[in-house]
Amino acid sequence: METYPKRTNDLWLTEAQTENLHLSLRATDVLRHVRTPYQDLLVIRTLEYGNVMVLDGAIQVTERDEFCYHEMMAHVALCAHPDPKRVLIVGGGDGGSLREVLRHPGVEEAFLVDIDEEVIRASRDFFPTLSCAMDDPRARVLPMDALKFIEEHRDEFDLVIVDSTDPVEFAAGLFEAPFYGNVARSLRDRGFVVCQTESPFSDTGVVREALAALRQVFPVVRLCTGFMPTYPTGFWTYGVGTKGPDPSRPLRPAPEGTRYYSSEVHAAAFALPPFLKEWVGA
Ligand code: SAM
Repeated sequence: METYPKRTNDLWLTEAQTENLHLSLRATDVLRHVRTPYQDLLVIRTLEYGNVMVLDGAIQVTERDEFCYHEMMAHVALCAHPDPKRVLIVGGGDGGSLREVLRHPGVEEAFLVDIDEEVIRASRDFFPTLSCAMDDPRARVLPMDALKFIEEHRDEFDLVIVDSTDPVEFAAGLFEAPFYGNVARSLRDRGFVVCQTESPFSDTGVVREALAALRQVFPVVRLCTGFMPTYPTGFWTYGVGTKGPDPSRPLRPAPEGTRYYSSEVHAAAFALPPFLKEWVGA
């Protein structure tokens, strides 16, 4: 009698992080797969990282490690700004940055402006631990192009968090000097901007160019780093621009409930290894 190898429904998500470097996660279910007006949106359940959202083939959030990224995006600036009250999140439709921003009792109003309503819907449906702050009375969730939104707001925010997809297509402008100019105009005195600026290993050019664009607009620009296991190479950078304050010194302790961010991590994140200083001219 003929024997057959054991067969399984083996489902893997493979993200091409660079042409020659892929990350694969074993999945147990496809929870949603739609083509939105802007991008391909996939939500899967995985064994290692819980539910995972993928946009145009790029992992955006996983339930297990998202806190590493969202806590850095929010708390570095919110703990170093003298008195942050109004915050704008550009992109970030999963709600993770919003959840972290609203941990700060001093924040009175936080806008989340994501171009794609389907991302917001998918987060509400499959990522309750990320979308949980969307119904906070201080949250304003708006599905629209942040490039347009920012043009219409002047001198209003203390912090702008640019939690965007990679710099391609409709998100490309979010990494360029004209956008940062509008961000600066939307900020009040002492305002901060924080941008996710990708990995120095897989995207050295993006880190350099985003920093150069920030330097054209903000008098103080610093880079800090953090671990982010499911993003390309796991080593992530954050560009911080301010209208004057030093972003590397926390003025207040971490809000309650953080798991990655602390005052010690804040200070350490700005200590760049020599190779990175050289690469980005910091
Ligand atoms: N930090 C995550 C990453 O790098 O993988 C990004 C997460 S968040 C889901 C990125 C969001 O940016 C997406 O939901 C996308 O719709 C949004 N986005 C991209 N371009 C945008 C624009 N011009 N205006 C507003 N939102 C935008």
